[in-house]
Amino acid sequence: MTELFTPTVSASLDLTELRRAVTGPVWDPGDVAVVAELAGFNLAPVHEPVGVVGATDAHDVAAAVRWARARDLGVAVVATGHADFSHRGTLIVSTRRLDRCDVDPAARTAVVGAGVKWARVIEAAAPHGLTGVSGSTTDVGVVGFCTGGGVGPMIRRFGLGSDRVRAITVVTGEGAIREVGPGDELFDAMLGGKDAAGIVVEMTVELVEVSRFYGGAIFYDAADAPAVLHAWREWQAGLGENTTTSIAILRMPDLEAAPPPLRGRTVVHLRVWHLGPEIEGLEVLSPMRRVATPIVDMVDELPSAAIDAVHCDPTDPMPSWITGGHLREITAETIDTVLEIAGPQRELPVIIVELRQTGGRGVRGTQGVAARAPYTVGVVAPMVPALAEVVPAVGLGLVDALAAWSTGTVPANYASPETIAARPGACWDDDGRARLAAVVARTDPDGVLGGRRLGLR
Ligand SMILES: Cc1cc2nc3c(=O)[nH]c(=O)nc-3n(C[C@H](O)[C@H](O)[C@H](O)COP(=O)(O)OP(=O)(O)OC[C@H]3O[C@@H](n4cnc5c(N)ncnc54)[C@H](O)[C@@H]3O)c2cc1C
Repeated sequence: MTELFTPTVSASLDLTELRRAVTGPVWDPGDVAVVAELAGFNLAPVHEPVGVVGATDAHDVAAAVRWARARDLGVAVVATGHADFSHRGTLIVSTRRLDRCDVDPAARTAVVGAGVKWARVIEAAAPHGLTGVSGSTTDVGVVGFCTGGGVGPMIRRFGLGSDRVRAITVVTGEGAIREVGPGDELFDAMLGGKDAAGIVVEMTVELVEVSRFYGGAIFYDAADAPAVLHAWREWQAGLGENTTTSIAILRMPDLEAAPPPLRGRTVVHLRVWHLGPEIEGLEVLSPMRRVATPIVDMVDELPSAAIDAVHCDPTDPMPSWITGGHLREITAETIDTVLEIAGPQRELPVIIVELRQTGGRGVRGTQGVAARAPYTVGVVAPMVPALAEVVPAVGLGLVDALAAWSTGTVPANYASPETIAARPGACWDDDGRARLAAVVARTDPDGVLGGRRLGLR
């Protein structure tokens, strides 16, 4: 894999002062506890930090940043570990102890610590008829998702995850603790800037009133891919904002975790979320039920907490790699190209090639481009050592093949290290990048945080 960070220090720094400065645990890099502390969904990253801090509050995060800054070191954050970044030669702040999750039904908000996954918020909100604007899986952390914009299955109705953030407690690259909200430039920078401008300690997110939806997944046979993909393109163009849909060509691994009818097969996966009664949802979806006979049809009226049924993402840890881009439009030629480069006839080391509707509404933060571009393309692949060179080349090539329809930008949450190396600065449009860079220059003048890793500097 491409290494964006060259370790600049030996792995045997004296951490005594750091231990004095923080309340939470501090580990030397070789400590066996580090493996469990940094274990998350993605098994691909190989971290080689100079030390690891298990932050318990904002003061711990601030002290860790100040300690690293004084030693000319970088600081990286590991939360619920879905990203494929390997952090080397930096101090890692682990946020798993920042586990506050307070739902306020009257205010329709949740205050969440930086270590909290969407699943907890959604479970706590559901009894009040509320839910959170999560991504394809509630196994992802709220903060990791929203700091990258956050493209989810309800996006056409409720916007990006970042559009629903109301307040953030954040530690800057100078080690200052700031409370920021709408109108504050640091707030804007955090929503789409990942950890370039600060490390989030807590976030207040707005919840939305959804108790049930009509949706889920339909799987079609590989032979129906051309008919289904072309029909999807025409169908989705006429949908209202109460419906969000995406379509994927899935190469299901031959593993026990895969459901028997799909195991080891290439299939087409239609994802549907519709806000409305079942009778309405049935009508909305009927053209896609007629286009081919599904292998499995799991679309139904479901409680809001069952949102994972739309994308059916895996939750068991695995080595995973991602890339993608924003698309301006999807024409019949776009679909033909997808079928040509990623259709079932191809032998490819990827699991998912997907097209998602993203056309959102109100936009906050520096990922604004995601809401203006009506679609994304995403590629997810298994990042095992034997495929370490092949996967990025194939994945980036698949996205490049759609360049004629691309905006040239990449959702920040889809930006693997190789994506950033190939397209530096592409996580933002020109305006978003300029705004973010200006804030980062003020809040992280020494480049302690993630700006360089994210291709901003
Ligand atoms: C199975 C799967 C499904 C996914 N589905 C979607 C989806 O539908 N939509 C979408 O938009 N993305 C999706 N993603 C991408 C995901 O949103 C990003 O990888 C996100 O960064 C994961 O957050 P994390 O806390 O799990 O990751 P980690 O690996 O712990 O952190 C990743 C990065 O998030 C940032 N970050 C985390 N915590 C903080 C913090 N406290 N302060 C500042 N920055 C922080 C940092 O840049 C950090 O390097 C998916 C990923 C996977 C593996």
